[in-house]
Amino acid sequence: MHVPSLIERKRDGAELSAEEIGDLITAFTRGEVADYQMSAWAMAVFFRGMTAEETQHLTKAMMRSGRVLEYPAGSPPKVDKHSTGGVGDKVSLVLAPLLACDNVWVPMISGRGLGITGGTLDKLESIPGFNVSLDEERALAQLKRIGVFMIGQTADICPADKKLYALRDVTGTVPSQPLIVASIMSKKLAENLDRLVLDVKFGAGAFMKTRAEGEQLAASMTEVGKLMGVQMSSLLSPMNEPLGRAVGNALEVAECVEILQGGGPEDLIRLILDLAAEVSTASREQLTVWLTDGSAWRKFVELVEAQGGDAGALDKIDQIHRAPLAQPLLSKGSGTIVRVDAEAIGRASVLLGGGRQRATDDVDFAVGFTEIRKVGEKAQVGEPLLMIHARSEQTLAAVLPLLDNAIVIE
Ligand code: URA
Repeated sequence: MHVPSLIERKRDGAELSAEEIGDLITAFTRGEVADYQMSAWAMAVFFRGMTAEETQHLTKAMMRSGRVLEYPAGSPPKVDKHSTGGVGDKVSLVLAPLLACDNVWVPMISGRGLGITGGTLDKLESIPGFNVSLDEERALAQLKRIGVFMIGQTADICPADKKLYALRDVTGTVPSQPLIVASIMSKKLAENLDRLVLDVKFGAGAFMKTRAEGEQLAASMTEVGKLMGVQMSSLLSPMNEPLGRAVGNALEVAECVEILQGGGPEDLIRLILDLAAEVSTASREQLTVWLTDGSAWRKFVELVEAQGGDAGALDKIDQIHRAPLAQPLLSKGSGTIVRVDAEAIGRASVLLGGGRQRATDDVDFAVGFTEIRKVGEKAQVGEPLLMIHARSEQTLAAVLPLLDNAIVIE
């Protein structure tokens, strides 16, 4: 393999073979391709794109750069969900235990928050003691015992993606559709799934700004998944206003506890059931029963305990992580709420310290927003539109201008 030739051929719009892509990824994983060469290649892909076949070859090569989970013969179907991420998207924390009430296994490998989108691992880690770094043996034993684990990507799962993503992050090559598809799907396929449902978000608070972009991404991920033998389905959901009424790590866990105990916001419950119905063998009616009769809650408690978490903390998680300052944002007008800007609220959450600007940043579990009003609701002048939870007067003052026009009332 001659790396400069591969870069030049991609730069000139040629289609690379399975062998060429495979060799490139293998050599890159072993440290035999310089970062500047891989970055140049990623930029060539950014401008030239990839055919469906090339995207599939890249996905496979990245998946095979590390371990692929293996299960005992005759084990139940393995199912999971992937969301492209949004503001207030806490679906996984409820969906995973709900699915595990059925006769399926849920080997969920999630990520951390980056930019305005939160991450499942950060939310889980706000539960005292919760360990998201199980080794494969312990994770599999847990799967056999309770049907679900929720962990982070280990060093030996898709190492090529880890290395390539770090380069893309600093070379302007994250928003390349084939690179996104291969990155996401290689990690999901390393879970060796039977069924996968995609929750593709589009709109102000999402990665994909338009429905058309979202549809394209969903189609491309579906194609790769199907070619690799996974039963795929996808839902496209708008992300213009935050999902649910809470944004922030521990605050979102509190909202999930509310749902698992039979309450919680309707939009979130609807989406959880829609996604669950796509990959579960149980009916939507049965799933609704498990969500409301305490079955999914008990499964969540089992999951938390199995991973070293303090289940007794769940009912008071927002007190355990209580931000020193809580201040309402008051409505300046009266009428109907026509817009709640997810992007502005997401950016404000990062400014409060609840999200990350860089992958290495720490997150503050306590800060964020609660009681966020929804589009279509009525508001009177002087009424709270949301509650701000801040660590300091300084961060509180910093987010106020961002929130000024975030909620529009007409
Ligand atoms: N999420 C990923 O895991 N990879 C991407 O490239 C984009 C989003």
